[in-house]
Amino acid sequence: MKIHFSSFWIPVLLLLLAFQPGEKAPAISQDPRLMSVAWFTFSAEKEACYLQTYRLAAMQLEREMESNKANPLQPIIITDLDETVLDNSAWSAKVLLEGKDYPDYWSDWEKAARAPAFPGAVEYFRKAQQMGIEVFYISNRQEKNLGAAILNLKNLGLPFADSAHIFLKTNTSNKVERRNAISKNKQILMLLGDNLADFDGVWEEKINPEERMKAVMDRKELWGKKFIIFPNPVYGTWKDALFGYRKVKFGQTADSVWQEALTRYLNRYMF
Ligand SMILES: [Mg+2]
Repeated sequence: MKIHFSSFWIPVLLLLLAFQPGEKAPAISQDPRLMSVAWFTFSAEKEACYLQTYRLAAMQLEREMESNKANPLQPIIITDLDETVLDNSAWSAKVLLEGKDYPDYWSDWEKAARAPAFPGAVEYFRKAQQMGIEVFYISNRQEKNLGAAILNLKNLGLPFADSAHIFLKTNTSNKVERRNAISKNKQILMLLGDNLADFDGVWEEKINPEERMKAVMDRKELWGKKFIIFPNPVYGTWKDALFGYRKVKFGQTADSVWQEALTRYLNRYMF
């Protein structure tokens, strides 16, 4: 009997393809996240950077209080949580080691309420409280894990660790509405974050990396004064913008995107 190619081999091939094991995690040294997670996890420079920034922010806070003392509105600080107050490097290390990615294990990590605070954070927010400033936390942690967030902040000794001061993500990650609701009839002295969207709605828009940079320069008098930013090379909208806001998982080939972006940069400073 003559077996026709299409009637026999195609189903066999399809069966073989169906039983291929899932995409294997690449070797850890091939994972583009390794260096940034390593820096965040092991570099003492990072610790010094947070200490330095919180110390300078505290000094600036005194100046802001002084120059705004005629304002009768309640002075407040609005801060982000993750990679601003709370250090999630343990979660980053776990997903990296296991070849996983967000949102794997993220909810478990939130519920564990075990994130440590960055150096200088607790002292800064306690000082603000002593100065009569109210602190509000806006975070895109999940609303269903609010209890764990309160517990985490309380255990660290952070002030205002209650449901009236912590605003988590409900139906949108956009922080503008929450910021507006909180600051109604109050004066914002300072905003702290690791992502530009923690500061202004302009960075909630899907703009490209160059436009994001321009928006920073357009507000250059605010940095170090009212806006205090921390470095986050591990994740953030900066990376989403580079990938055109497409969901690119670490294991997928992104070489062409990296090459195109680096070439575009190099062309500006050709040597
Ligand atoms: Mg953050």
